[in-house]
Amino acid sequence: MTDSLLGRDTVLSHCGRHPAAHSGTVNTPVYRASTILFPTLAALDAKEGARLRYGRRGTPSTHALEDAICALESADRALAMPSGVSAISVVLMTYAEPGAHFLVVDSSYGPTRKFCNQLLQKFGVETTYYDPTKGAEIEALIRPETKLIWMESPGSQTFEVQDVAAITAVARRHGVTTAIDNTWSGGYFFQPLKLGVDISIQAGTKYISGHSDLMLGTLACTEASYEALRETYLRFGLCVGADDAFLALRGLRTMAVRMQQHNASGLEIGHWLKDQPEVLQVMHPGLPSDPYHALFAKQFSGSSGLFGFVIAETDRTNLAKMFDGFTLFGMGSSWGGYESLMTPSNPAVYRSASTWNPGGQTVRIHVGLEDPKDLMNEIRAGFDRLQPAIA
Ligand SMILES: *Cc1c(COP(=O)(O)O)cnc(C)c1O
Repeated sequence: MTDSLLGRDTVLSHCGRHPAAHSGTVNTPVYRASTILFPTLAALDAKEGARLRYGRRGTPSTHALEDAICALESADRALAMPSGVSAISVVLMTYAEPGAHFLVVDSSYGPTRKFCNQLLQKFGVETTYYDPTKGAEIEALIRPETKLIWMESPGSQTFEVQDVAAITAVARRHGVTTAIDNTWSGGYFFQPLKLGVDISIQAGTKYISGHSDLMLGTLACTEASYEALRETYLRFGLCVGADDAFLALRGLRTMAVRMQQHNASGLEIGHWLKDQPEVLQVMHPGLPSDPYHALFAKQFSGSSGLFGFVIAETDRTNLAKMFDGFTLFGMGSSWGGYESLMTPSNPAVYRSASTWNPGGQTVRIHVGLEDPKDLMNEIRAGFDRLQPAIA
């Protein structure tokens, strides 16, 4: 399934579901399997071509999830992975070879950089990090040995929006494969393959799961890039358990309403934060005041609940007074669940081709599905606990 004439919310209710194949049950059951039996020697001999061969190579549960991911991302093919990081690693390894050159956006997720700097360097792959504001100008960085351009838009710490169509146009002219980390939009607000991207990965851990109880990665791609990616996936022996595939599909069924609420509440709180005296800057590309808004509006149909802001206070003891007193906002890694999170972040340490120096403490907020009024009351009370030092 590449695209559908149906609305996205309809697609999300029906994709990857085949009740007639499963005794009429609405949801694909949990198929726990390692061995798959073949009834005859002829069938066993023909198993090379069979979709069901062995548990590691997929079960009806994981196939249903992969079919659904294809529909979500408007892709030809998909693979389910044990984590977002495994999806990133499979893409990077597939295009790695001695002497290869990768272009990776400077605002990308920390472990993506680590994979390039630590592992790929050992295999003789050179990585150049590029400024996230580069669109067609990325052409100047492409070399004959450039094999892959990696994007992440918006950057999940600093929220710069990339000009994806401009980058894929240049990449195609030079025969360079493009990949993007699409976790922020959940694939609900943005389908990068429609803008010419070859591979879109997500931490399904975040919005596809939606409930902070699942580790999952997804990879969606064109037919042309699929076989090579699948080879890497198979060689590493990556596979997703049937229970996890079931939970991911269950999360996907409510994704449309969840994302619409994350969008509305995130925008409301982002607007409100801009007017708070403690806030120096809000990084939310969905806000018309954001420097990336025009580029964002051209590509995305809405915003998820993750964005950033900067507060003047940097003293750790004082920040603790604010953060330790929260009862609705949790502190911890990840996001994309139904619950709100807030953590101080330090994006500057993940940069080499651009700078991040906003003149205060960067904070990352995930706006969950709570009543936004309660969240704003809690943030306001937190700001009030930041006692300005008496001169
Ligand atoms: C969380 C995250 C990942 C990694 O996903 P895991 O499932 O935790 O491995 C990748 N990219 C982004 C942008 C993320 O936020």
